[in-house]
Amino acid sequence: MTIFDVIVVGLGTVGSATCMELGRRGLSVLGLDAYRPPHKMGSHHGESRSIRRAYLEGTAYVPMAQQAWQRWRRLESDTGTRLLTPTGNLTIGPGDAPAVQGFLASARRYDIPHELLTEADVRRRWPQLAIPDNFVAGLEVDAGVVAPEKALIAMLAEAEKAGVVMRFDERVTGWRDEGHHIRVKSSRGTYEAGRLLLSAGAGTKPLLGPLGKWLMPKRVPVHWVAPIQAHPFELGIWPVNFWQLPMKDKPGGYHERYALPVTRPHGRVKVAAHNQLEDCDPLRVARSVAPEEVTDIRSFMATYIPPLAACDIRSDVCLYTMTPDGDFVLGALSGQANVFTTALAGHGFKFAPVLGEIMADMLEDKEPAFGVSRFSPSRFD
Ligand SMILES: Cc1cc2nc3c(=O)[nH]c(=O)nc-3n(C[C@H](O)[C@H](O)[C@H](O)COP(=O)(O)OP(=O)(O)OC[C@H]3O[C@@H](n4cnc5c(N)ncnc54)[C@H](O)[C@@H]3O)c2cc1C
Repeated sequence: MTIFDVIVVGLGTVGSATCMELGRRGLSVLGLDAYRPPHKMGSHHGESRSIRRAYLEGTAYVPMAQQAWQRWRRLESDTGTRLLTPTGNLTIGPGDAPAVQGFLASARRYDIPHELLTEADVRRRWPQLAIPDNFVAGLEVDAGVVAPEKALIAMLAEAEKAGVVMRFDERVTGWRDEGHHIRVKSSRGTYEAGRLLLSAGAGTKPLLGPLGKWLMPKRVPVHWVAPIQAHPFELGIWPVNFWQLPMKDKPGGYHERYALPVTRPHGRVKVAAHNQLEDCDPLRVARSVAPEEVTDIRSFMATYIPPLAACDIRSDVCLYTMTPDGDFVLGALSGQANVFTTALAGHGFKFAPVLGEIMADMLEDKEPAFGVSRFSPSRFD
C-alpha cells in the first residue's frame, strides 16, 4: 500500500488550497471528498464571497487578508481565471457597534484606505440603502468579492497539475492513529499517511467525535432576491453591505444581516443572516427554507434595502462551522501530533490560498508566516 506524506479529508475551501500548496512543494498527497467540489452540500457555494482587509472580526486577521488578496491575484494569473472583483464593502451600524469599532480598529492600525460615512453620505451614494439617522457606515473602497466555485476549480486543477491524487464521491468514515502512521477509512477503501488534515468543513465534527465537541455546525438559509432593476445592485456598482442591528429586547445584542451584489447577467442579490443560526447535524440538515425564514429577511429588506422588499425570492441552505469564540481553528489536535484540523467560523473563504500555505507549513513542521498560535484547537481543552 502507498503511504502518502499527507491525506487531506475534504477538498473544499481549505482542503483544495492545502492540496495545491503541498503538491507544489513536492509532497505525496491524497485528497478525498464525499462529493465533487465545487458543490452545494458544504460551505463554499453561492457565487460570491466578500473579501476585505479592514477586518471587523479582529486586527489579527489583517496581515492574512492583505496576503490573501495578492495570492488570489497570483492564482488568477497562474490559471487565467478571473476570481476577484472590487466592489467596495460597507460595515453599517450605530457608531458604537462592535462591527463598526472592529472595522475602524483594523483600518487605522494597518493604514487601510477607508471612510467613515454618515447616514446622509450613504443615502446620497447608494439610495438603494435606507440607513437610520443614528447609524454610520465604514467604507473600504478597495474591498471586493471572490468567486468561490471558480476559485475551487482553479485550486483543484493546480493541485492535480502538481501531482496530488484526488478521489471524489468517496466519503471518509473514520481514521486511527497507529503510531507510525495514520490509517484512514473511506466508503471505498483504506489509506495510510504520515499525517492527516481533516478539512471537511461542517463534516469535520462527525469525524472528530469527542475531540471536536467544540465544533458547532450551523444551518444558514441564503436568499436570492431578483431586483426589478438590476443595474443599481450589480457587482462593481453596489458594495457588499454588512449590518449590525441592535436588538430591541436584548441590550448589547445585535442582529447581523448582509447583502452581496448581483454577480452575473440575470443574477440575483444574495441576502442572509450571519448570526442567530440553527445548530445542525451536517449529515441530516434540512435543505428547504421555511416561509417564516423568508419573512424575516423580507422584513429586514423592507426597512434597510426597500427596493428589494417586494421582489421574488428563492432560498437555499449553506453551512457554517462555528467555534465558541468565532475565531478560526487551525492546527494539530491536542494529543495527536500528526492529525490537524480546520474550522473557519463562517468567515474564511477570502483567506483560502493563505490558509493553504499555513496548513502546508504546519503539516511540514515549518513555522507559518503568520502568528497563528491563537487559532490552536487546544484553546478549547
Ligand atoms: C452563506 C455563506 C456565506 C459566506 N460568506 C462568506 C464571505 O462573504 N466571505 C468569506 O470569507 N467567507 C464566507 N463564508 C464562509 C466560507 O465560505 C467558509 O468559511 C468556507 O467555505 C469553509 O471552508 P471549509 O473548507 O471548511 O468547508 P467546505 O468548503 O465546505 O469544504 C469541506 C469539504 O469537505 C467535504 N467533506 C465533508 N465531510 C466529508 C467526509 N466525511 N469525507 C470526505 N469529504 C467530506 C465536503 O464535501 C466539502 O467539499 C460564507 C459561508 C456561507 C455558508
